[in-house]
Amino acid sequence: MIQYKNHSEKLIKIKSKEISLIENVQYFLDRIEAKKDINAYNFVFDDALEQAKIVEEKIKNDSAGKLAGMVIAVKDVLSIKDKPLTCSSKMLENFNSVYTATAVQKLIDEDAIIIGKTNCDEFAMGSSNENSAFGNVLNPVDKTRVPGGSSGGSAAAVAANLCDVSLGTDTGGSIRQPASFCGIYGLKPTYGRVSRYGLTAFASSFDSIGPFANNVEDVALVLSVLAGKDELDSTSKEIDVPNYSTSLSKTEKIKIGIPQEFFGEGLNEEVKATIENKINSLSKNEDIEFVDIHLPHNQYSIATYYILTTAEASANLQRYDGVRYGFRDSEQSELDDMYTQTRTKGFGNEVKRRIMLGTYVLSSGYYDAYYTKAQKVRRLIKEDFEKAFEKVDVILTPTSPFTAFKIGEKSSDPLEMYLSDIYTTAVNLAGIPGISIPVGNDSNGLPIGMQLLANQFNEEILLQTAKLF
Ligand code: GLN
Repeated sequence: MIQYKNHSEKLIKIKSKEISLIENVQYFLDRIEAKKDINAYNFVFDDALEQAKIVEEKIKNDSAGKLAGMVIAVKDVLSIKDKPLTCSSKMLENFNSVYTATAVQKLIDEDAIIIGKTNCDEFAMGSSNENSAFGNVLNPVDKTRVPGGSSGGSAAAVAANLCDVSLGTDTGGSIRQPASFCGIYGLKPTYGRVSRYGLTAFASSFDSIGPFANNVEDVALVLSVLAGKDELDSTSKEIDVPNYSTSLSKTEKIKIGIPQEFFGEGLNEEVKATIENKINSLSKNEDIEFVDIHLPHNQYSIATYYILTTAEASANLQRYDGVRYGFRDSEQSELDDMYTQTRTKGFGNEVKRRIMLGTYVLSSGYYDAYYTKAQKVRRLIKEDFEKAFEKVDVILTPTSPFTAFKIGEKSSDPLEMYLSDIYTTAVNLAGIPGISIPVGNDSNGLPIGMQLLANQFNEEILLQTAKLF
């Protein structure tokens, strides 16, 4: 059983011997085994128990790091030296990492215990975790439904108590949307806040790494560890990292903008009502002021996102050619056939669809009409947010237009699936941070998530606002 509300309480209980860390890790390992049908993990690490022994000793000697004993699962797109890295793809089925991602190394350096790697959509492309070569992940709240995607395994693992915290990645919503579908917290940091070194690239100018947790305190604590400049990632920024845990208790007046465009057509009535109730209940709080705002270019965000990310993906996925590493169709005698058959057999349908779309929008005849134009619209979307943040500190929206859908419900219609990202993709186009927090359940008992957004590098105000809610 989990006998703590958050990590700081866990640490106190380990110190006072009320909790044994070894028993705690064993509890998670047993539970992962018992809940195998959820399929949240691609790999479970048995050496977690040995780690627990070492860390427990360090805790007793007062020499342990900030995350001592926190049991963390890592999305299977992040490298951990000598461990498998599959990206839930047949292409990398037998591949082991040769180095460790900075984000994961930082957790290890603070004495977190890495318990395994979580299932996800292949190469992080998807919104339902139905595009994994390792099978679907089930939503722990209702096993007939999807957990969201692409970090579906990471979200399900936290929601089902199969770890304390997990890492996911968010290119267009893949942390926030599964957090919303599973009823937990999920933070996508500012682009450049967390090093991407060791993250398998999907769309390099969009990808962000962030935590899932059952409470906002753990999100803040883990972000304090993950954030910061890394010499190994030139897009990570040299900007001071605040102590996000202490900023949680700060009180200041917060002005929250409600973008009208996010509450119109397409939004499920129950999701809308739940979020409006939340807004009403907080409007009595003297420290919070709500104002209406507009983000007029959001209507172009899906189209812009799917042009730019597929373009970047088509370039990033060129490296899987059967020559360098990963799967190779060795039955072919001609080099060209080997390339073609390796990529035909190694990638799933959604990945192939995106490589073709991306190659098309980058081809010389269509480059200006699609790629260049989408870059211009990206700028307009970013400017909408810049203008809004001149007036407000935080923007509040639904995370997803609906709650978790049934397995198979949208998988035959890619466009319908893409539309589920309507509230999340603009955030990655603009590079700003966002968090999804659980705010209630619909009449089927399915979790409803609310998204809070802030200006670049202002994760502090996001976490503070999340705490208020
Ligand atoms: N659902 C979006 C997509 O399919 C987002 C994916 C992500 O953030 N990795 O591209």
